[in-house]
This record gives sequence, structure tokens and C-alpha cells, in this order.
Amino acid sequence: MGWLSDGLNWVRDKALDIGASILSITLGTLFHYLYIGTVYTLNAFKSKKRISDCLIKVMEDLDLFPSDVNLSKVRIIQNARGLAGDGLTNNYTIYISGKFDEIESLRLLLHELKHVAQYQDMGYALFVITYDYQFVRYGYTSAPLEKAARKFADDNEVKVNDQYDLDCRLVTSPNSPVFKQMIIDEDWTMLLDL
Ligand SMILES: [Zn+2]
Repeated sequence: MGWLSDGLNWVRDKALDIGASILSITLGTLFHYLYIGTVYTLNAFKSKKRISDCLIKVMEDLDLFPSDVNLSKVRIIQNARGLAGDGLTNNYTIYISGKFDEIESLRLLLHELKHVAQYQDMGYALFVITYDYQFVRYGYTSAPLEKAARKFADDNEVKVNDQYDLDCRLVTSPNSPVFKQMIIDEDWTMLLDL
């Protein structure tokens, strides 16, 4: 009756696999909530930054996010304590381990904003459970939600930066390369002598 014991062994192995998966997802999710809770508590009294209205408009014009992501609700906490990596996103709050400047940190900002969008798409609890499952199953680098965030930042960093130069920086900084090039292109060099 070799086939029967083979079959029973297969069922037992599967049951162990499923048991291990459920256990690791449960522990992973508990750990994740503990981690988010710790970071939240350690940074509860820090000031929060907003994304500038001009950058929000740039990202909306480029149609980067689904309409249910409200970019003006995003809050960024820089020099955050207790982080395991460069950043952590908890729904609309983004924790950054270093100093935050929306353009100098644009790549990281776009990465974390993709996570904000994933929270909105999937709903809070499902995002956390899925993220933890993928983290356990594939590891940080290969987890599909992480890969999507990295690809999103790769695909959009230059586009957003260029549009920001045109729409936002030009107005506020006459030293911007775009502004100088425009003066040369339009032969307004006499302006520089003013
Ligand atoms: Zn990420």
C-alpha cells in the first residue's frame, strides 16, 4: 500500500506547510503591527511635513495615482526614530530615517507614495497581511509589493523632476538650470545684466 502511505505523507507535509504559512503570516502580522506601533510611539510628537501644493499638482497632472489617493492627506516625518530601513509607510503617514526634502528625496518619496496607494487600493488590513506574507515568502527585495514600489519610483522620478522644474522651480528660483536655459534660448540675455 505504498501509494496510500505516500498519499498520507503528502497530506501531512502539505498540512505542515499550510500550518507553517499560517503561523508565519500570523507572527509576521503581529510583528508588523508591533513595529508600526513602536515607530508611531517613538515619533508621536515630531512635526509633520506636507507635500507642497505645486508638487501635488505635478503628480496629479501626470496622473500618477488613482483618484482615491488624496495626496494632500500625506504627512511626512523626517529623522524618524526606530526604523529598520530608509522609510516606512503607515497608511497616509510616511516615516523617513534621514532628512526630508521633497525633491532631493523624490525617489524615496515616490516609492513610499506607491505604498500609500497600495494601502488605499487593498484596504489597511489586507495590505498589512499581504505585505507580511510576501515578506516571509519572497524576502524584502523580491516581494511583489516592494518590486512595484521600486518600479514606480524608477519609472516616474525623472518625469516628475522635469515637470517640477518647469512648473514649480522656475517660479521660485531664477538660478534653476531651466530658467537660465530659457533666457539663452529666448535671447533674453539682457535680463541677466539687470
Ligand atoms: Zn517599500
